[in-house]
Amino acid sequence: MRTQRQVVDYSLQKRAVLRELLAGRVGTYDVCDASPYLKNAARFHGEPTEQRCPICRSENLTHVHYIYGDELKQSAGQARTLAELPVLAMTLREFQVFVVEVCLGCDWNHLVEQFLLGRDGLAEGGPEQGAVGGVSAPGAGPAQGRRREAQR
Ligand SMILES: [Zn+2]
Repeated sequence: MRTQRQVVDYSLQKRAVLRELLAGRVGTYDVCDASPYLKNAARFHGEPTEQRCPICRSENLTHVHYIYGDELKQSAGQARTLAELPVLAMTLREFQVFVVEVCLGCDWNHLVEQFLLGRDGLAEGGPEQGAVGGVSAPGAGPAQGRRREAQR
């Protein structure tokens, strides 16, 4: 998605959990604990994937997208379909998305990634986007405005 930014990938953490499981330091009951809410969200708003569940290997994983942010008001914390996200990203300035993988077979679940979406991402042109610290050069604002005009 065009406005996607500040992506945090949780695949390392997931691999660590799977290693612990293989080593017998945690049980499947510890990691296969999807709540009824999460499973419902997966059924009704989830995005099917081609990935096999790493635990039971009999079902494909479903990705659930949870949205958070002040602008969402009462919708904050709700699951949304993947198709709804670009629409929200053009409507709102900024909101957080958490992607959770769920297996509806054995209840395995884990955070996949998180990222920001929203119109604010459109103003940050190109590679200088993760300007951490938020110190912008004098006059950066108007210059960005002009650049955006030129792109239309
Ligand atoms: Zn499974």
